[in-house]
Amino acid sequence: MRNVYLDNNATTSIAPEVLEAMMPYLTELWGNPSSMHTFGGQVHTAIDRAREQVAAIINADPTEIIFTSCGSESDNMAIRGSVETVVGYPHIVTTRVEHAAVLATCQYFEKRGCPTTWLGVDAQGQLNLDELQQSLRHDTAIVSIMWANNETGLMFPIEQIAQIVKAAGKTFHTDTVQTVGKIPIDVRQIPIDMLAISGHKLHAPKGIGATYIRKGTRVNPLILGGHQEFGKRAGTENVPYIVGLGKACELAMKYMEEENTRVLAMRDRLEEGILRSCPDVRVNGDRKNRLPNTTNISFEYIEGESILLMLDDLGVAASSGSACTSGSLEPSHVMRAMGVPFTAAHGSIRFSLSRYNTDDDIDHVIKHIPSIVKRLRELSPFVPSQAK
Ligand code: PLP
Repeated sequence: MRNVYLDNNATTSIAPEVLEAMMPYLTELWGNPSSMHTFGGQVHTAIDRAREQVAAIINADPTEIIFTSCGSESDNMAIRGSVETVVGYPHIVTTRVEHAAVLATCQYFEKRGCPTTWLGVDAQGQLNLDELQQSLRHDTAIVSIMWANNETGLMFPIEQIAQIVKAAGKTFHTDTVQTVGKIPIDVRQIPIDMLAISGHKLHAPKGIGATYIRKGTRVNPLILGGHQEFGKRAGTENVPYIVGLGKACELAMKYMEEENTRVLAMRDRLEEGILRSCPDVRVNGDRKNRLPNTTNISFEYIEGESILLMLDDLGVAASSGSACTSGSLEPSHVMRAMGVPFTAAHGSIRFSLSRYNTDDDIDHVIKHIPSIVKRLRELSPFVPSQAK
């Protein structure tokens, strides 16, 4: 059976070059980077190199990169680390469509007494920037607004957002877990104070991430102990995975322009193929301002999970927008925030591509999806008679 992996916003495969770069640090080069002897020195040099590679993908200085265990830790570090520099209960600004790593962290502080502004989005998934401007207060400790949404791929105008926040003299964090490696990012051009990176979204392994912290930004460490990572994140470094993340960033930079043009063309062909061949489908969110690799499509009157199971039988991996794993079958918070109608939100599917996809993958999905949708609609009690 053909395997077609279209769930790259969930995780990506490890690039062969990344694995190859990591291997020596899982075998012969196992020293502790803090040691003074040659065993330590060899791996310390590898960390320095990886820090430069990660810094390069966002045009930062290597000293502004802190290695972490994942994107969630990086988000936690930025938000908690900023709030905890303030005595008392400072104000936080975020949006209703963030990833759980940001949502849950802000909810935690809100419950502890920090007033929190939750910015909503319109039907296209976009923010109202006047609302953002008006939300900023004298006691705002941090504004955390994602660059690209993991479910829809929709991108907020981060440059404008960062300028609004910085004009008010506030700290700005953006969750770029889905953005790094997919579009160019330049922290010298955009006044971002902190951003989050996750290795497993860009062909490095799971369990490695990084936080960019602009020089001069006040942030308390989450993990206290040794002096690793400039005193901002204690713990002996995960050397092989750090090396892997560095290599993955180098490759992503190398491939970005050429591969993203190819990925975008495949994504658009997939989307058009589905829209053309299936009635009552819609693309969720603003189609102009999206990551090149993501589409979120709603198939009216049928459950996303049923589509996923039938796709899985054909070797196709995608993901759905409803939180069925909780058993509640509630549409996702992103679909709800966008006001996507109930019947459409339930039938939403996210397809997310990577540079390893091919045109044959897209043909495979376009070929099979109309019959899947037709079969499920025949069984669905929600299809109005005129749509049968
Ligand atoms: N932020 C976004 C937008 C994500 O998509 C994810 C993962 O899906 C995370 C944060 C968390 O990253 P990690 O899985 O590395 O903890």
